[in-house]
Amino acid sequence: MQSIKPGSEYDVVIIGGGIVGLASAYYATARGLRTLVVDQYGIRNNVNSSKGNERMFRLMQDNTSEARLAETSLALWMELQMATGTPLLAMDDLIFFGHKDAPLTTEGNVSQVKKTMDRMAMPYEYLDSPDAIHKRFPVFNREALPSDYVGLVQASSASINVQAAASAFFSAAMKTGRLSVLEKYAVSGLEPSGVPHQNQTYAIYAQSEQDALCIRGRHLILSPGVWADSVLNPLGLHQTRDWKIWQMNYAYWPVKSHDVKIPIWFEFGNLDANDHGTFYGFPPLNFDPSMANRVKMSADYTYDVFDHPAQIHHKVSQRLMKELSGHLSSLLNPQAIHLEQMEDAGTCLYSMSPDGKLVIGRIPTQPCSETFYHGASMCIMESGRAFKYAPLFGRVLVELAIDGKSPYQSDLDIFSPLREGLFN
Ligand SMILES: Cc1cc2nc3c(=O)[nH]c(=O)nc-3n(C[C@H](O)[C@H](O)[C@H](O)COP(=O)(O)OP(=O)(O)OC[C@H]3O[C@@H](n4cnc5c(N)ncnc54)[C@H](O)[C@@H]3O)c2cc1C
Repeated sequence: MQSIKPGSEYDVVIIGGGIVGLASAYYATARGLRTLVVDQYGIRNNVNSSKGNERMFRLMQDNTSEARLAETSLALWMELQMATGTPLLAMDDLIFFGHKDAPLTTEGNVSQVKKTMDRMAMPYEYLDSPDAIHKRFPVFNREALPSDYVGLVQASSASINVQAAASAFFSAAMKTGRLSVLEKYAVSGLEPSGVPHQNQTYAIYAQSEQDALCIRGRHLILSPGVWADSVLNPLGLHQTRDWKIWQMNYAYWPVKSHDVKIPIWFEFGNLDANDHGTFYGFPPLNFDPSMANRVKMSADYTYDVFDHPAQIHHKVSQRLMKELSGHLSSLLNPQAIHLEQMEDAGTCLYSMSPDGKLVIGRIPTQPCSETFYHGASMCIMESGRAFKYAPLFGRVLVELAIDGKSPYQSDLDIFSPLREGLFN
């Protein structure tokens, strides 16, 4: 890997080497741009929100914009698979099930998702009762399903191979000869200089344990995860106190029998608009030897909510894990999974926006201002859902930084950085 000389100038500098930054690097280098990715912990580290083995891909969304964005993203995942010859998506049935009238959570609810699918004429299967859910997937115990439970099954869903996806974006970008990386340097200063549309560049001040340097980028892409304030503050933006870090928990359980099909699943067991009562799980996957014959399952709520990255402690919540394993023991067929053998519990971070919708767009010079930093874009507060969109978001971030606009804009309006309450 080449060393980065102080004062070097790049067409694009991407701050953040998680999945969104790597996807951006793929599209930037494909456009012939000399690109630098900077990450304070290194590319594909084990601290950020993109760590781990698997993520869910789904077309089922609670609004048509996200459903269309997911459709486009699916096409781009396929393109990346073809271009790199790497299988990235394990396609499978996904079932959404839960209370028929459960209030909306950050992930939607069954009835709103059903309405969206109907509006878009997307094919799905409707399971109109707990009996129908149990009949379709006997892995869910009939006695554990309340009488008002209904379900939706969608076949164009997938488990995404996290490490293969990161590696595919990275290696393809590297192959162009146009990608450089600066690892274990934290960016602490950003300064635009020169005249927009003429000779503007950003000075990017980065620091490692031993050394500090300044590099220059004609265009800037920010994909900093929960550390967004570290790069937004130098640009005069501060995330409001309503933004939160959710430290999520997960674990693995050994599969007892492959005779009982385990789909990708998400349960809306919530009784109010709180995410408490939402759970999800994956089928057995072979993305990594460590996953062999095991399934990952999680709760989609947490008791560890932080205001600042300094508060992150990465400790698994015993309270949450007790609730999760208690719930799974009643929900799931004991013939399928060794539910008493929870293994490898861990944590991972959501960057949660005040309204639960992520933020992607050009960077305003002030909160809610329609004046933007020239040649710059960002994806922040991804609210636990950006992985499925990674190829599309990478492409959009490059379009916004280089062209100042994206053909996907009308569907991206729901993620606008100009929403009230994001910055002060
Ligand atoms: C438990 C869990 C389950 C999830 N499940 C799903 C799912 O099923 N489907 C789905 O679509 N999404 C899911 N997500 C969300 C998805 O994983 C994230 O939205 C996505 O990984 C975010 O990627 P990112 O590149 O934006 O951020 P990150 O992966 O956090 O990367 C940001 C990077 O920026 C670097 N950085 C930040 N500031 C600086 C700085 N000042 N200088 C240098 N480097 C800096 C950091 O070191 C970090 O590596 C899940 C997330 C979690 C935690």
